Amino acid sequence: MDIINPATEALITTLEGDTAASAQKKYEQVRQGQPAWSQTPITERIATIARFSELLKNQADELAATLTQEMGKPLNQAHNELNGARGRIQYFVENSEKWLAEEVVTEEEGLVEKIAYEPLGVIANISAWNYPYLVGVNVFVPALIAGNAVLYKPSEYTTLTGLKIGELLHQAGVPENVFQVVVGGGKVGQALLELPLDGYFFTGSNRTGHYIYETVAPKMVPCQMELGGKDPLYVPNDNANVAKTAQAAAEGAFYNNGQSCCAVERVYVHQAIYDEFMEAFTQEVQQFKLGDPEEEGVFIGPLARQEQIAVLEQQVQDALDNGARLLTGGKKADRTGYYFEPTVLTNVNHQMQVMREESFGPIIGIQRVADDEEAVALMQDTDYGLTAAVYCDTQEKAKEILAKIDSGTAYWNCCDRVSATLPWSGRKKSGFGSTLSYQGIRTFTKPKAYHLRVMNNN
Ligand code: NDP
Repeated sequence: MDIINPATEALITTLEGDTAASAQKKYEQVRQGQPAWSQTPITERIATIARFSELLKNQADELAATLTQEMGKPLNQAHNELNGARGRIQYFVENSEKWLAEEVVTEEEGLVEKIAYEPLGVIANISAWNYPYLVGVNVFVPALIAGNAVLYKPSEYTTLTGLKIGELLHQAGVPENVFQVVVGGGKVGQALLELPLDGYFFTGSNRTGHYIYETVAPKMVPCQMELGGKDPLYVPNDNANVAKTAQAAAEGAFYNNGQSCCAVERVYVHQAIYDEFMEAFTQEVQQFKLGDPEEEGVFIGPLARQEQIAVLEQQVQDALDNGARLLTGGKKADRTGYYFEPTVLTNVNHQMQVMREESFGPIIGIQRVADDEEAVALMQDTDYGLTAAVYCDTQEKAKEILAKIDSGTAYWNCCDRVSATLPWSGRKKSGFGSTLSYQGIRTFTKPKAYHLRVMNNN
């Protein structure tokens, strides 16, 4: 496997990937180790994960540099990601014991009913490249705490980070026969689908997710999907902070180069404030600094994947062919590396790809709407259902609109954010099941219902 730096297109290193045979060996190894791990007291499993978090902190500079080099996100965003991941780990460290403890639900004369949360066994964590630490810890941390063994497949675009995660977990005390990194592309991912695992936890595109769900269905084991989105943001006319809203929306659309599952992907603005919003938004985007992600102050680095440039070019061309207006950007940047200029399109509509298909890059379509009713209809006009945002003066108004939107997450005056204490879940083509919150702890378990009756001799 060639590991390429997307900012320079230079080869970082070449690695030996896994094969179906080596994946099978790793499976056998963790299958053998899982029972003892599940018998290790939960306080010890949690302490191990806390040590992992300390290692992330101590090695943050080196880890952030590796992430930036192989995936292209600006260095400060790589540091933000590591800090964010440590915050999530802290939540799991502090809350898992409570949510995994046995629950006595009935206690009456001669009868106790209780629920025990048993680990699933050996699970696959097939992961995406855009936030390898964040989307990784959502799965492998609570899975390990709950007593599972994990086969972790990082994306081939963040292989070095994935290997580092494995190394640090082992250094923290997670046994090698409990956590194994399986490296390689889709082919080795496919090998995991063929192994007799006890659960599949996938983060990635709808296309791959759909395939995995179909493929593992005959196994009748839990399968969870965190997929893409086409997340809308709406600005109604009762908004006393249009310029500030425009800045926040631009950040939500372009942070991590737009390569976030919950990036703002479509914007609707009430006609009464449209011109003011457009001016502030475009100004904000034009001052984003594009360049070497290792350089201070850079906000737009290269895309992680070269192929995405063609997707973005196609979306821009399709929009322009159908009457959109390009306010800034619109093409590959004229320099080495997989750079695409931050792009703002207006006069867009739902016949255009840019308003229907996940862009996953630094490009946004902004549509003028006549009223809230039109905005709701457009926000709902999507195959996806990850998040939706409304920026306006009152919470009541935002809630009234957000209640009509079929999305797993609803934001008032914020966007592109995830909280460890709330369930993270998609609807429709954005997937199903939850990570994070207590739901994202219990999802790595199977409940056992105990009916315990005392026999008496009378
Ligand atoms: P992909 O679907 O391309 O890949 C995801 C993972 O699946 C990778 O590890 C990939 O390997 C692997 N894979 C590919 N083919 C197979 C196969 N046949 N069997 C098993 N595994 C396979 O997604 P990306 O990595 O490009 O991630 C971007 C997508 O993820 C976006 O759509 C984004 O919205 C979504 N996402 C969703 C999140 C959420 O929480 N809802 C969070 C983060 C991202 P390899 O890359 O090595 O080919």
